[in-house]
Amino acid sequence: MKYYSTNGKAPIADLRKAVVKGLAEDRGLYMPERIKKLPKEFFDTIETKSFQEIAYTVADAFFGEDVEADALKKIVYDTLSFDCPVVKVKDNIYTLELFHGPTLAFKDVGARFMARLLQYFTSDSRGTSSSRDTSKPSINVLVATSGDTGSAVANGFLGVEGIHVYVLYPKGKVSKIQESQFTTLGKNITAVEVDGVFDDCQALVKSAFMDEELNHHMKLTSANSINVARFLPQAFYYFNAYARMKETLNPPLSTLNSQLVICVPSGNFGNICSALFGHEMGLPVKRFIAANNANDIFYKYLQTGKYEPKASVQTLANAMDVGDPSNFARIYDLYGKSHERICSLISGATYSDEQIRETMRQCYAETGYILDPHGACGYRALQEGLKDNEVGVFCETAHPAKFKETVDNIIGGDIQIPERLAAFMRGKKQSVEMTKNFDDFKAFLMSR
Ligand SMILES: *Cc1c(COP(=O)(O)O)cnc(C)c1O
Repeated sequence: MKYYSTNGKAPIADLRKAVVKGLAEDRGLYMPERIKKLPKEFFDTIETKSFQEIAYTVADAFFGEDVEADALKKIVYDTLSFDCPVVKVKDNIYTLELFHGPTLAFKDVGARFMARLLQYFTSDSRGTSSSRDTSKPSINVLVATSGDTGSAVANGFLGVEGIHVYVLYPKGKVSKIQESQFTTLGKNITAVEVDGVFDDCQALVKSAFMDEELNHHMKLTSANSINVARFLPQAFYYFNAYARMKETLNPPLSTLNSQLVICVPSGNFGNICSALFGHEMGLPVKRFIAANNANDIFYKYLQTGKYEPKASVQTLANAMDVGDPSNFARIYDLYGKSHERICSLISGATYSDEQIRETMRQCYAETGYILDPHGACGYRALQEGLKDNEVGVFCETAHPAKFKETVDNIIGGDIQIPERLAAFMRGKKQSVEMTKNFDDFKAFLMSR
C-alpha cells in the first residue's frame, strides 16, 4: 500500500517510511491510497469471531501487503492483550469501554501497535539496520508529553527490543498518577524531567530532530499521534463493538444495521477518524457524532464551513484541549474536501465544564455508571442527539480513576483505583533532570 500526504506536495511513501517518519516532508499527514471494503460474509459472521480475529482481518486490509502475515498476526495479538467491551448504560445508549489497557486510556491500542510495527521495520533481522550491535538500540523515540501521551507511548514500547524511548515532561506540571505511569518503568524507557513547561519539552524534541550531529550519532523518530501506525489500529475496536452488540446485546439486527450511531469524544480527532475509516470499509454505521469540550473548532466548522484553529482552552476533559486538531486534515481529505459530505455523516456537540459536571452527576444518579470527563461529553451528545429509533454507542476513552480527584469531587464519591494503576503509584520514580536548554539535552543524548 502506498501513502500520500494530505498536503499533496510530498513524494508517495511506503508503509515503512510513513511509520518511521510519521509526518510527510510537506508537513502533511499520510493517507492510505486505498481503503479496502471488507466482504459481506465478514459482517454476516462477525459475531462468531474474537476481538483479535476481527482486528487481524481489519489490520490485514491496511497492512497485509507490507507486513508478512505471521508477523502481522503476532503484532495484532500482542497489541490486544486486553478487552474493549460494550456495556449498556441505559435504553439505547451503550458505552464502548476503551480503558482496560495498561494505562487505562484508549491510546494504549495505537501506541502498542505502533511500537511493534516500528520494531518490525527497524529490527536487525530484517537487514535494515546499519548496526548489528545488539546492546545499542536501532532506533530512539522522543516524545514530549503533558501527561497522557507519555504514559501510553512509554507503556506501549516497554520491553520492545531495539527501541529506546525518551519521555520529556514538564517538572511539577503533570499529575502524580500520570507521572507514575512513565517514570517508574525502567528498562528501555527514560523519563526526562524538564525544568520548564510543555512547550519547552516540545521545543527540545523538535530541535533534536533538526540537529544533524545528533541524528548522525543516533537514529531518532517520534511517536506522535498522527502516525498511521497509531491511528489506523483504533478502527479495530469499532468492528469489535459491532460484533459484540450483534452477539449479545439487545438491539434487533435491523436496528443495529440501519440505526447505529457512534459518538466519539474528540480532541485531535484521531480516534473518530479511525471510526470513519471503518465506515469506509463497510462497517454499518448510520452516522457519527464528534463530542467536544469547550474547544469547539470542529463544531464551528460544521456550522460555518470554515476551519478556524485557535489557542486551546483548559477544561476538565484535558486530553481534548486541542485548538487545531491535526486529523481534521484527514477527514477533510477523506470526503473530498466537501463540507456537505462531512455534514451529512458527522454532527457535532460542545460542552462547557459546568455541563460536563452536570452530566457526570446526572448519569451517576440515574444509572449508577461513573463517567470520566471525556466520556461525559460523549454520553451527553447521545442523550441530546439520539433520534427515536436510533441506538447509540459512545467511547469511554479513559477510566474515571485516572481523574480521581475531579471525579470524586463531582459525584461525591471515593472511586476505587484499579490495581494496575495502584501498582504504578507504588513504583519508584526514576528520572533524569534536564534544563530547557537544548545544548544540555543534546550533550545528554550524545553521551548515550
Ligand atoms: C487523547 C484522548 C482523547 C482525544 O482523542 P483524539 O483521538 O485526540 O480525538 C479523548 N479522551 C482521552 C481520555 C484521551 O486520552
